[in-house]
Amino acid sequence: MSQYKAKVLYIEDNPQNMRLVRKMLKIGGYNLVEAVDGTSGVEMANNERPDVILMDINLPDIDGIEATQRIKRNPELARIPVIALTANVMHGDKERFTAAGCDGYLAKPVTRNELLNTIAYFIGSSVV
Ligand code: MN
Repeated sequence: MSQYKAKVLYIEDNPQNMRLVRKMLKIGGYNLVEAVDGTSGVEMANNERPDVILMDINLPDIDGIEATQRIKRNPELARIPVIALTANVMHGDKERFTAAGCDGYLAKPVTRNELLNTIAYFIGSSVV
């Protein structure tokens, strides 16, 4: 019997963070597609049509804010939930994420339960 595995795109330039989330998502039974910078992340969102996107904010080219805006400006991608994932959140950052179109936010380091529960919540809520 085959089972549908939801697809998660993680846009992250830090290999350690990527490795950690890769492990957690494997345990959670998700398919992971990976991008290491903002522009390739936006391109991958377009090509892969993931069910949810995890977005690092500090990226080497365009930042996660700009990448989120590009995704949300594309009517074919706008409905995909984007969850910002970042450390050292400063005053006003959450508002900035929301204004850019992020649907949720997780502080690094994220626990496995937090990550899996948040993804499940957004994937559930995105079902029409
Ligand atoms: Mn980063």
